[in-house]
Amino acid sequence: MTARPKSPDPLTGRCLCGAITLEIRGPVRGVVVCHCRQCIRQHGAPPGFSQAAWENVRLTGEENLTWYASSAKARRGFCRVCGSSLFWEPVGTGRVSFTAGLLDQPTGLESVRHIFVADKSDYYEIHDDLEKFPGTMQKAPPI
Ligand SMILES: [Zn+2]
Ligand SMILES: [Zn+2]
Repeated sequence: MTARPKSPDPLTGRCLCGAITLEIRGPVRGVVVCHCRQCIRQHGAPPGFSQAAWENVRLTGEENLTWYASSAKARRGFCRVCGSSLFWEPVGTGRVSFTAGLLDQPTGLESVRHIFVADKSDYYEIHDDLEKFPGTMQKAPPI
C-alpha cells in the first residue's frame, strides 16, 4: 500500500450497468496485472487489480454483488446483473483487490507489475518494462 498523490481520494467507480458503485479512500496499491488462468477465464483478458483495506471501501448496491469462491484462499465478486468483475478478495486478510477498469477516469494509478506470466495465454505478448513474476509476487523473484 502506498500513498497516491496523483489520484483522487476517494477513487470512484462502478460496474457496467451501474447497479454497484464503489468509493475507495486512503492508500491503495499500484495496479498488478494478473495472467493466471482463473483471471483470464473470468475476464477474457488479463485484468489489472489495485488493492485497498476493506474498511476503506464503500459500496452501494451491495445486494447485487455475488461472490464466487475460486479457491480455498480467495473469492471473486461480480455484479449479478451485468457480470462485471469487481473484486478478488484474499479471504481473512482485511484487504480486497478491485479491478482498476471499474474506476472513473482519471485514476492517477499506474501499473506496477505482471504476475503469473508463466501461465499467460499465447495470443498476446507483454511489451513493457514492468516487473514480471512467473507466479505470485510473494513466492517468486521477478523474471
Ligand atoms: Zn452491474
Ligand atoms: Zn489471476
